[in-house]
Amino acid sequence: MAQLIDGKQLSTQVLQEVASEVELLRAEYGIVPTLAVVLVGEDPASQVYVRNKVKRAEEAGVCSIAHRLDAECTQDALNQLIDVLNNDSQVHGILVQLPLPSHLDEEEVIAAINPVKDVDGFHPLNVGALAAGRASLVPCTPQGCMIMLRQVHSDLSGKNAVVVGRSNIVGKPMAALLLQADCTVTIAHSRTKNIESLCRNADIVVAAAGRAELINADWIKPGATVIDVGINAIDLDGKRKLMGDVAFESVARIAGAITPVPGGVGPMTIACLLLNTTRAARRQLA
Ligand code: NDP
Repeated sequence: MAQLIDGKQLSTQVLQEVASEVELLRAEYGIVPTLAVVLVGEDPASQVYVRNKVKRAEEAGVCSIAHRLDAECTQDALNQLIDVLNNDSQVHGILVQLPLPSHLDEEEVIAAINPVKDVDGFHPLNVGALAAGRASLVPCTPQGCMIMLRQVHSDLSGKNAVVVGRSNIVGKPMAALLLQADCTVTIAHSRTKNIESLCRNADIVVAAAGRAELINADWIKPGATVIDVGINAIDLDGKRKLMGDVAFESVARIAGAITPVPGGVGPMTIACLLLNTTRAARRQLA
């Protein structure tokens, strides 16, 4: 059976690092790293995500302030709030929970965030810095995946990696980080031909397609490392179950290492958000 890469346990270690950095920032500069979370509307999944982020922040000693706006809020009102947060020296990180209601322009909102407070790493300047291989605020989910990969591979150089999915928030930044680590990277998507055989050649497969159990044991090379980003809520016999993009039972019999869903990439994403908040705070002090 594959080695289980336990995201819950690993995220606890990252949160301890965050807590130590919070203490250092308090002692050295008398500040408390502060994260502003903006939630527009009543989307139930977004509300759960925001609650979890606020809870973890509190546990790590990061101050979090949730700003809740009506689903009908205008673009102007949202932009004005971002402006206030950009200019508030006590706010070090700004996160706008996505997706936004359809009448709002996500790209405009992301571009309005001050890049030094962009703890999601979605601002075009941070995207460009990552693509150029320079240190920046890196998107949280791929950052968490890299920490998980490094549990298994002390050196990623020369590994064949396939990323399934090409979204701006997961697939593309994941591929950029793997490239930075000297992997040979293939990005697969819904139009990719022979996707199974591409994956079968990979030492590392990162699944971020949002398709429940898309990837089964036939896609995986024996001993490969499989990181499952997917979170798919499926109705099974009237019960809601969370499933990854990987058929865990069968793939775990052939892979060398694998992340579970839930308890894998999800907790790492939140831990990296708080890590980015402390990094943003330190950079603003500099
Ligand atoms: P998107 O829907 O934005 O992107 C999905 C990507 O997968 C697209 O590039 C799409 O291709 C590709 N894709 C879809 N179907 C297939 C297929 N059958 N074969 C190959 N590629 C396919 O999703 P996100 O990137 O936002 O999220 C991906 C998954 O990760 C979701 O389940 C999401 O819930 C989860 N997630 C989990 C997080 C965590 O913390 N664990 C954080 C963020 C996301 P194309 O571009 O051609 O349409």
